[in-house]
Amino acid sequence: MRRAIAMALAALLLVGCAGGPGKTEEPTTEQGAEPPRVTSNSLYVKKVEGLREDFILGADVSSLLSEEASGVVYRNFSGEPQDMLQTLAENGVNYVRVRVWVDPFDRDGHGYGGGNCTAATAGKIGARAAKYGMKLLVDFHYSDFWADPAKQQSPKAWAGLDEYGKAEKIRAYTAESLAAIRDAGANIGMVQLGNETTKGFCGETSVPKMCLMYRAGAEAVRAFDPNVLIAVHFTNPEAGNFKKLAYMLSSNQVDYDVFATSYYPYWHGTLENLQAQLSAVAGEYKKKVMVAETQWAYTAADGDDSANSIGEELKYEKPYPFTVQGQSREIRDVAAAVAAIPEGIGVFYWEAGWIPVPGEKYEDRLPLWEANGSGWASSYAAEYDPDDAGRYYGGSACDNQALFAFDGTPLESLKTFALLRTGNDVPVAADALDSAVVTVRVGESLELPETVPAIFTDGSRAETAVTWNEAEAKAVSTDAVNQYVIHGAGDGKEALCYVNVVEANYLKNYSFEDEDRSMWTVTPLQPEPQADFQVKATDAYSGEVSLHFWNGTAVEWTCEQTVTDLPEGDWRISVRGQGGDVGEDADIHLYVIADGATYTAPIPLTGWVDWHEAVIEHVPCSSGTLTVGVYVRCRGGGWGTFDDFLLNPEK
Ligand code: CA
Repeated sequence: MRRAIAMALAALLLVGCAGGPGKTEEPTTEQGAEPPRVTSNSLYVKKVEGLREDFILGADVSSLLSEEASGVVYRNFSGEPQDMLQTLAENGVNYVRVRVWVDPFDRDGHGYGGGNCTAATAGKIGARAAKYGMKLLVDFHYSDFWADPAKQQSPKAWAGLDEYGKAEKIRAYTAESLAAIRDAGANIGMVQLGNETTKGFCGETSVPKMCLMYRAGAEAVRAFDPNVLIAVHFTNPEAGNFKKLAYMLSSNQVDYDVFATSYYPYWHGTLENLQAQLSAVAGEYKKKVMVAETQWAYTAADGDDSANSIGEELKYEKPYPFTVQGQSREIRDVAAAVAAIPEGIGVFYWEAGWIPVPGEKYEDRLPLWEANGSGWASSYAAEYDPDDAGRYYGGSACDNQALFAFDGTPLESLKTFALLRTGNDVPVAADALDSAVVTVRVGESLELPETVPAIFTDGSRAETAVTWNEAEAKAVSTDAVNQYVIHGAGDGKEALCYVNVVEANYLKNYSFEDEDRSMWTVTPLQPEPQADFQVKATDAYSGEVSLHFWNGTAVEWTCEQTVTDLPEGDWRISVRGQGGDVGEDADIHLYVIADGATYTAPIPLTGWVDWHEAVIEHVPCSSGTLTVGVYVRCRGGGWGTFDDFLLNPEK
């Protein structure tokens, strides 16, 4: 369930928007006096050098009206109730983003949730934001609910139409919605044609059909106001395909200004990769680029008894601690990465204020989510999205990533938007202790680290002595595979040590991560080089490195390791593999040679990241010497990777 929610959440994140420079710009502040200077005694913010005056520091605030309808009260830094949008503007936010669904309601008028956002929502929020000098990015999903890489369902009313029919609907709907949003008083600066449309758009997945519909939307926006920027929005920069997407748009004559992406550090790779991906598009296709969504957790806690998509787990890299300062650093670093690209126009923080609705427990809050759409999905979404939203509906899945605390008071990190222009050079202090991860094999003894890295407010690190909870450490048994968490403390901060007791593995460098790979022997059975050790996390089962093959011509090769001095007994051998295009005559298998006998198991290669585990069990070995390997024979164009060879004693 937690995973399902995370997936659903990830989908939600897809919405993006941008607003920006270029074209003719009005003065930023339309009304109101200059906001007071933002100061902080505790928040360390490194200045973003060379930041343009019109750089977008945006916030997605799509859930705002549904939160207010549920009784949420937002406050300012003095603790007084204040329009959340005013508080954002006072702290350097200069643009808002609101998602728009066509008809997020069931036949009885019950909202699907996620703010029940329509063009009317965008109009109301946009008009309020305009009072504080903020422009609006209209994030059209062209769906009745969340659109993301996994979901691009067309609106109910458009079901059954072909791409030409949907293109005409998009054209008319875009025109009438933008007119209504402007008439409500919003200052529309940018329009997003779809949300996280990396793998599809409005129910279509073929490139010509998607581009036909993008073109219709773009024409409607240009006709509405040629000064409004047109953004397209994708995600998964870690997949490395932005240039391919930009080529797809360009070769299909899609008219747009801004190439936008989502960037969630726990899923989407490094900032360096993000920057390289966006730079490539900006340079080659002469487009503005931006991050339409990003977020970071300031706490692992959940404020509303509805699971969050990100918590204190070891499922992802954690480049920043889950602290207010960590959140601030994430915002600052993403802004700096985009600002360093000449065509980089801005960053939007996703759902700045989606905090818990009032209530002591789940049962208090559920009626508010259901009535006001203030949860990520309501039970009424079942008719449109029965397999996900309809089953896992609930509250906010990102209350721990908002820029307001659970009680509605702003977090110090909100000041980052203002302070990153000048920097805020307060004395550096320890902010958190990094977690330790210890992997111990069955039968080995546990050794806990004596130090862990302390992470300072400026991002620097230094090893710090840590004391672990003795009772928890003693409770760890290495007799069997298991996982433990041990608490500790050092320098006045808490630390965690994750202990993974894993099966003994008698193979050396079983996952190819160590640079010395001399224990593995690759034997091409034909003259050309046919296999290599590839450093690419997305093609590795664990870590970054895997045993890889691809060749334009047919290949035949083996890779094996021989182990000696094994205790006498029965053994279990396994490996993971993924790949494809190997042809029907291919022979790809795991093999084991022991006591003069050979055992094999096929490794099916059925597609990218479709990992299969090949296992050979109960292999007797009395000589103490055993050889484990893979054999590959396939046609040209076949490809694949193998990872995590395991050689364990049979239980
Ligand atoms: Ca929650």
